[in-house]
Amino acid sequence: MAVLGLLSKLLLRKQITFENGSINILGQPFLMMPSRVISLLFKATPENRKTMYYFCKASGAEFGTALQNNFNLKKDSLRKIGQDIFNIAGWGSLNFYKLDYETNTANVRLFKSTVANQFQSKDPIDHTARGFFAGFATIVFDTDVDCIETSCLATGKDHCEFIVAPSDYLNKNYKKISKVQIER
Ligand SMILES: [Zn+2]
Repeated sequence: MAVLGLLSKLLLRKQITFENGSINILGQPFLMMPSRVISLLFKATPENRKTMYYFCKASGAEFGTALQNNFNLKKDSLRKIGQDIFNIAGWGSLNFYKLDYETNTANVRLFKSTVANQFQSKDPIDHTARGFFAGFATIVFDTDVDCIETSCLATGKDHCEFIVAPSDYLNKNYKKISKVQIER
């Protein structure tokens, strides 16, 4: 669904509210702030990539659980609403594709990443986004998965590419990236 269409629908149903200093989307509190906060943070402390990833993974899982509990959504409906909200929230234009509910894997494409668009880097930098994807997908797949970014707009590519899968699979098939991005 087009972002504006979804936004109008949610506003009409009062599933997005702005009142008394709070923003709520589908019952979950959101915070609006200049996106530079995130790119400046990564510039200042690139060594925090795993910390940010795991914070965002926890937050994405909480958000997915809350949506599932409130709306009793089936796997793919939950995945779709998560994707739509990410797009509304201004992170870029997101698409989960090659979704496989048997192997709990997915490829994810992010166009015009707002964070990646703000600086150049030799390595992928969308650690917040991949954390949200991992956490949310953990609820969608109902099993623990992680997410690595294999290609990023910040490195000069056309868009960002991610792989969501159980950590064993990522460690085995993407050893080098997994070591840098997810290995604890
Ligand atoms: Zn990226």
